[in-house]
Amino acid sequence: MDLVQFQKDRCKGCELCVGFCARGCLGMSDELNAIGYRYAKLVNPEKCTGCGVCADMCPDTVIRVFRKTKKVKSHV
Ligand code: SF4
Ligand code: SF4
Repeated sequence: MDLVQFQKDRCKGCELCVGFCARGCLGMSDELNAIGYRYAKLVNPEKCTGCGVCADMCPDTVIRVFRKTKKVKSHV
């Protein structure tokens, strides 16, 4: 599963998220979504750190970011 998921048919193509991803993970589709806009998508998933900036910047809450969790060893 990708760390970043989009509700693509709610995206209005503003590209804010693309500009704010410092690692260049995001890009715009060539196709149009259900409401007639090119939509944001993950184009370099291997570079994503799960920082959540893209989700914070999206004015329409289109993006959800899932962070990987580390298993913590118990010494009890
Ligand atoms: S979670 Fe961070 S690194 Fe990943 S796509 Fe969003 S802004 Fe870029
Ligand atoms: S900030 Fe939100 S509405 Fe704008 S392109 Fe990104 S996902 Fe789409």
